[in-house]
Amino acid sequence: MNFPLDEVIAKLEGYVRDLQVPIVDLIAAQTQDPFKVLVATILSARTKDEVTAEAARRLFARAETPEQLAKLTVPELEKLIFPVGFFRNKAKHLSELPRALFERFAGKVPCEIDDLVTLPGVGRKTANLVRSVAFALPAICVDTHVHRIMNIWGYVATETPLATEMALREKLPEKYWIRINGLLVAFGQSTCRPVAPHCDACPIADLCPKLGVTPRKSGKAATTPNVLSGAPQEQLFVSWNVNGLRAVLGKGFAEALESLNADIVALQEIKAHPEQLPEEITTLPGYRQFWHPAKRKGYSGTAIFSKKEPLAVHYGIGKPEFDCEGRVLTLEFADYFFVTAYFPNAQDELKRLDFKLAFDAAMLEYMNRLRAQKTVLLCGDFNVAHKEIDLARPKENRGNPGFSDEERAWMDSLLDAGYVDTFRKFCPDPGQYSWWSYRANARAKNIGWRIDYFVVDAQSESRVLEASIHSGIPGSDHCPVSIRFK
Ligand code: SF4
Repeated sequence: MNFPLDEVIAKLEGYVRDLQVPIVDLIAAQTQDPFKVLVATILSARTKDEVTAEAARRLFARAETPEQLAKLTVPELEKLIFPVGFFRNKAKHLSELPRALFERFAGKVPCEIDDLVTLPGVGRKTANLVRSVAFALPAICVDTHVHRIMNIWGYVATETPLATEMALREKLPEKYWIRINGLLVAFGQSTCRPVAPHCDACPIADLCPKLGVTPRKSGKAATTPNVLSGAPQEQLFVSWNVNGLRAVLGKGFAEALESLNADIVALQEIKAHPEQLPEEITTLPGYRQFWHPAKRKGYSGTAIFSKKEPLAVHYGIGKPEFDCEGRVLTLEFADYFFVTAYFPNAQDELKRLDFKLAFDAAMLEYMNRLRAQKTVLLCGDFNVAHKEIDLARPKENRGNPGFSDEERAWMDSLLDAGYVDTFRKFCPDPGQYSWWSYRANARAKNIGWRIDYFVVDAQSESRVLEASIHSGIPGSDHCPVSIRFK
C-alpha cells in the first residue's frame, strides 16, 4: 500500500497546532537571527527543550553576537550553559565558533550545508536544521524522531538517520522539507513516543502501518508518577547489547538514550574500559555510571547508567572465570535488585557450550540468592532464543548456538524456577525480535531472533506494567528492550 503522506501531514499539522513549538523554531521565530539559531541548535543536541531554553537565555544575556561570544572563556561558557547535555564539549565548540566564523565567513553564519558542517560542533543534523529554520532554505533535518517515525510509516526502510535523510531527499516532496522536522519532533515528543507510542490517541492511527511498534496498552492511564501519595513511582528500564560502545557512538547512541529517557539503562558487550571512551559518554548528564569491563580489552563487559543512586553495587557473581569477562553487574535499591548480564555465546559447533551452561547455572543460583531478599530483575543478552516463536527460522537453526536444546532447556528451568519472561507476558505475537545478523539484509527483512530479555521473579510480576522491544532504534545488531516498572 502506498503511504498517504499528504493526508497524514495535513492531519498532523492540525493536531500539533496546540502543542509546544520546538525550542529552535521558537528562537528562530522570536529573533530571526541565524547566529542565535546556530548557537541554540548546538545547545539543543541531546538536551530537553526546557533546559535548552534556559541555557540559551543565560548565554544570550552575555553574548548576542560572535564578537561578544569570543570574549567568554570556556569555564564561563560551561557555567552559563550547564546542565545541557555534553556541556563541556559544547562550551569548547562555542568558544571556537567566533574565530571560525570570522576567519572563513566574515563573521556571518553561512547557509550552505557544506560550509556549516566545517564549523565546530556542527554535524549534518545541526547544519540541516540551521539552513531550514534560520534561512528558510530547503533542507531535511533528520533527527531521531524523523528517522524513527518515517520507518514506522514504512515511508523509508533505513537503518541510520543519514540513510533516512538521503532516502527522503529522493522521495519527500520539497514543499515538506523545511517543515518535516518541527512537525515530527512535536508529534514524536507528545504522541508517537519512542517508548510505547500512544496509538490509541493518535489522529492517524487508521493510516499508519505501525511497523515494528509495540503500542502502549489501550486505555492505560498516562504515566504520571504518583509522588505525593508515596506510591512507588513508575520507572522505565532499558537493556541494550550495543556490540561495542565506541562503535555505536557514531550511530545515534546518544540520541537513542535521549529519546528513551530511561531511569536505568543497562548495556552489554561494551567492549571498552571507561578511560577509552569520550567525555560525551562518561559525563552523560543526569546519570550515575557503573562499569564492569572485561579484563581483556575490547571484549565483552557490562555497564549500567542510573538516574537514582543505588544502595550498593555488586561487580560479578563471585566466580572469577565469569567475572574476569565483566559479564554481570548488579545495582541494589531499597526494594529490588537490578541485574544485567551478558551471557556467553555457545559459539560455532557449540565449542563454548559447556562454559555457557556453567554460566547459566551460576546465574540461576545467583538470582535465587537475591530473590530470597527482595524483588529481582534480570535483563540482558541471554544469547538464546527460547521457543520457536522467538526466531524467524527455527527449523533451520535447531541445534545451532543460541537455539540448541541444552540452552533452551536452561530457559525452561529458569521459568520453572519461578521467573517470568516479561515480554511474553504482554505480547504473544510472532515476528518480535531483538537481534538480526548483519548479513543478507536480515534486519530489513526481519529475519531475527529474540535473545534480549527482562525477567522478573514471579512474586513481583505485577510490578512490571509493560514490556517493549524497540526494533526501530538502530546502531547495533541488537535493539534496546525495555520495561515499565513500579
Ligand atoms: S499509530 Fe502509533 S505508531 Fe503510528 S504514528 Fe500514531 S502513534 Fe505512531
